[in-house]
Amino acid sequence: MKKSRLKDSAVEFPRQVRLKPRRERSVRRRHPWVFSGAIAEVRGRPSPGETVAVCDAHGEFLAWGQYSPHSQIRVRLVSWRRADAVDAPDFWRARIRRAVAARAPLRAEGHTTAFRLVHAESDALPGLIADLYGETLVVQFLTQGAELRRELLVSLLAEEVRPQAVYERSDADVRRKEGLAARSGLLQGSLPQPLIVVENGLRFAVDVRQGHKTGFYLDQRENRALLRRFVTRRARMGEPPDLLNVFAYTGGFTLAALAGGATSAINVDTSAEALRRGRENLSRNGFDGAQVEDRVGDAFQLLRQMRRQERRFDLIVLDPPKFAFTRRDVQRAARGYKDINLQAFHLLRPGGLLFTFSCSGLISPDLFQKIVFGAALDAGREARIIAPLAQGPDHPIALTFPEGAYLKGLVCRVD
Ligand code: SAH
Repeated sequence: MKKSRLKDSAVEFPRQVRLKPRRERSVRRRHPWVFSGAIAEVRGRPSPGETVAVCDAHGEFLAWGQYSPHSQIRVRLVSWRRADAVDAPDFWRARIRRAVAARAPLRAEGHTTAFRLVHAESDALPGLIADLYGETLVVQFLTQGAELRRELLVSLLAEEVRPQAVYERSDADVRRKEGLAARSGLLQGSLPQPLIVVENGLRFAVDVRQGHKTGFYLDQRENRALLRRFVTRRARMGEPPDLLNVFAYTGGFTLAALAGGATSAINVDTSAEALRRGRENLSRNGFDGAQVEDRVGDAFQLLRQMRRQERRFDLIVLDPPKFAFTRRDVQRAARGYKDINLQAFHLLRPGGLLFTFSCSGLISPDLFQKIVFGAALDAGREARIIAPLAQGPDHPIALTFPEGAYLKGLVCRVD
């Protein structure tokens, strides 16, 4: 009995990944990743990105996935239904439609024109990122599976959103783990110069060719809006805050604070180019820029220097880049987060607010809170959390894929 089923499975699924005994649990729980260590055998020599059937140790079908021979994440699962035609364009069209439709309420609000439309595994589209900046679509293909279907995915996205330009930014580091080289360039249409987007009524120029990620930190939209509300409330009470915006990039939090009535801001970033763009964004929104100072340099050093100078602020934003890329980095990353938060606690006036973030997926919200607690303790400041923060709703987290939750933050008020 068992033997004939085995034979059937080999015929039915010529390209097949057979799991080791008792390694099917996460697949059954619909986690989208199969790690190389769970695999007993790969049959039929699948080429990079090709569809494979993932079967348990007895040859029983579990799911369809995309094979990646070089990555530790050897298969990305796309469907748990045997009957799904996972290589048919309609299958991908439906997935893209669903992801784009999920953003329709946000887009309908009318005061924002930049969104993430597809958030990879979290939207059941492994390896695919699609960000919309006005009429310009920026795409990233981060896995062998997405790479193999690149042309189909671009044409389906274009069919769905009808952009004036499609630009590829497949230059993220993670491609290397997949054995893929970096690639960027214009795929369709022509890029507006400059490309201006609106976020909650504020105008930003986005450099989709050279900017970080796909050009803008879309994931912070709701947190910038929240900061603006906090500033507005204080300004209405006759206590408009001054801001220290550390890791400022193109000044998203600074503009939000000024729009809420902040008196002044200091932007800190190692990138002079990002700060220069931030300055252009000020005038783009009718601020003369006299109340904003730019400090090009390393945040760790500049924060220390400001502490020595006994500088004080009502509001500090810490939005550093990712510090932890692998589990081995977590300790060192934790020390980095603690250091900048410690300095920030020293620099806050009584009653001041700290917006502090970590975009390292490997640092859990729980660990992050502990790090911030340690920093406050060492700074001798009493502080409380008045709002926990996360990535915006266009960066959803599939319940089956907790790894999709990467951005976390806390608003702390110090006494
Ligand atoms: N808050 C920004 C996004 C910040 S991204 C926004 O809302 O758009 C992180 C930024 O930190 C990048 O602009 C990067 O140039 C900068 N950066 C990286 N390392 C740094 C360091 N050691 N000191 C200061 N800035 C740094």
